[in-house]
Amino acid sequence: MLDQTNELTAFDRDHFFHPSTHMGMHARGETPTRVVTGGKGATIVDRDGRESLDAFAGLYCVNVGYGRTEIADAIATQAHKLPYYHAYVGHGSEPAIQLAKMIIDRAPAGMSRVYFGLSGSDANETNIKLIWYYNNVLGRPEKKKIISRWRGYHGSGVMTGSLTGLALFHNAFDLPRAPILHTEAPYYFRRADRSMSEEQFSQFCADKLEEMILAEGPHTVAAFIGEPLLGTGGIVPPPAGYWEKIQAVLTKYDVLLVADEVVTGFGRLGTMFGSDHYGIKPDLITIAKGLTSAYLPLSGTIVSEKVWDVLVQGSDQLGAIGHGWTYSAHPLCAAAGVANLDLIDKLDLIENVRTVGAHFRAALAAALSDHAHVGEVRGNGLLAAVEFVADKDDRVFFDPEQKIGPRISAALAERGVIGRAMPEGDILGFAPPFCLTQEEADVVVGKTLEAVESVMTQI
Ligand code: PMP
Repeated sequence: MLDQTNELTAFDRDHFFHPSTHMGMHARGETPTRVVTGGKGATIVDRDGRESLDAFAGLYCVNVGYGRTEIADAIATQAHKLPYYHAYVGHGSEPAIQLAKMIIDRAPAGMSRVYFGLSGSDANETNIKLIWYYNNVLGRPEKKKIISRWRGYHGSGVMTGSLTGLALFHNAFDLPRAPILHTEAPYYFRRADRSMSEEQFSQFCADKLEEMILAEGPHTVAAFIGEPLLGTGGIVPPPAGYWEKIQAVLTKYDVLLVADEVVTGFGRLGTMFGSDHYGIKPDLITIAKGLTSAYLPLSGTIVSEKVWDVLVQGSDQLGAIGHGWTYSAHPLCAAAGVANLDLIDKLDLIENVRTVGAHFRAALAAALSDHAHVGEVRGNGLLAAVEFVADKDDRVFFDPEQKIGPRISAALAERGVIGRAMPEGDILGFAPPFCLTQEEADVVVGKTLEAVESVMTQI
C-alpha cells in the first residue's frame, strides 16, 4: 500500500505528470506535493490532517460541496446495476435519459437536446464540429470562422486551446489554429478608456466585433463563443449592455452564439444559467463542472431547436453523425448528475448562492476596496475576484515578475483558505461551494485581508 508519506511523495515526484504545474520544480521536489484525502462541505483535509476552507470549490466545480453521500450512493447503485453501456445507435441508460430531460427542463427557452461528453474541453470540441456541420448542411461551406475573446477560457485541446484567449495556453503549442479569431475582452477595468462609461465600452466591444466580421467577410464567420461572465481570464462580469449589443451584431450577420456555461451553469450566478442572468439567447450551451459537481466527469452541449432542426436535416442527407466518444453519456456519470441536480433543488442551494454570495461580495468589498493596492473587487453570485494594482490612481499594474497574485494566494493558503491566483494579472479569485455559510464567508474575507497585508508589507 502506498500509505507511507515519504514513499508517496517520491512516487509523485518521479512518476506523476501534473497538469498546469511547473514540471522541473515539481520533479526536483522544489514545490510540495499536497495529497488531499477528504472533504466535508466547503472544507478539505490533506493526509497531514491539515484542513482548508476551499473557497474555489476545487476548480470551481464541487458546487454542492464535499462529502455528499447522496451522490456517492447514486453512483454506487448504478455501478452495481450497470456500470457501462454505450450511447451509440440509439442506446441509452436510465440515468442518461433522465438527466437529458432534467437539463432541458432547467435550460433557457428554446433548447432541445443534450449531447454528452466528459470535459468542458471536449464539449467545446463538439460545439466547433456541430457549427461546421451546421453550415455544411446549409450549403455554406465557407462560413466556418469562430470568434472568441481575449481572456476567454474554453479548454486545453488543440481547437479549444485555440478558442481560449490566454497566452499561457497558446505559447509553445503553436496555438491558436485557424479558423479561430479573438476579439476584445469585455474587461472594463483593464481595457476601457477612462473617459468611457460601461455602456460606451460595451458599444466599443460590439463595434470591434462588427469590424472583425466585416473585415473577414460575414459569409465566412460561423459563430461567436463567450462565457456569460469571463471566468479564468479574471472573473470579470460583463459591462452594462454588453450582451445585448453583442447579440445585435451576431443576429445582423447570421452568426451563431455559443454560451460557454461550464462555470456559470447550474447556479453559480444565483440563476440556473448565466444566460438567464444576462438575457443571453444562445444557439449552443456548453456545460460541465457543476453538472455533477465533479463527483464524476461529465459535460454536455445543449443544442437549441434552431440548430437541432438543421442537424436532423443533415442526417437525412448524410446518414448517422460521425461524432461520438466511448464514454458519451456514461451511466455512472449520469447517475451522479441526476443526484447532483436533485440535491441542488432539495437544499435550495441556488438561493444560498444569492444570499451568501451577496453577503460574501459585500464583505470582501468592504474589507478591501479602499486598500491602496486593490484596483477592483468584483463578482456576481458566488464568484468574486480582487485585482491588485501597483498604483490605484493611475491604474498601473505590478510587474508580473513580482508574482503578487500567486504570493497572496500562497499566503492565504498558509492561513487555511484556498483562493486561486488567476493565470493572467494579479487577481485572486473565489468560487466557493454553494453550501458556504455566512460564517465561512467571513473567515475567507478576514484571512484574505491578513494575506494581502502580509504580502503588501514586503513589497
Ligand atoms: N470552459 C470554461 C468556461 C471553463 O472554465 C473550463 C475549465 N475551467 C473549460 C471550458 C474546460 O473544461 P475542462 O477543464 O473540463 O476541459
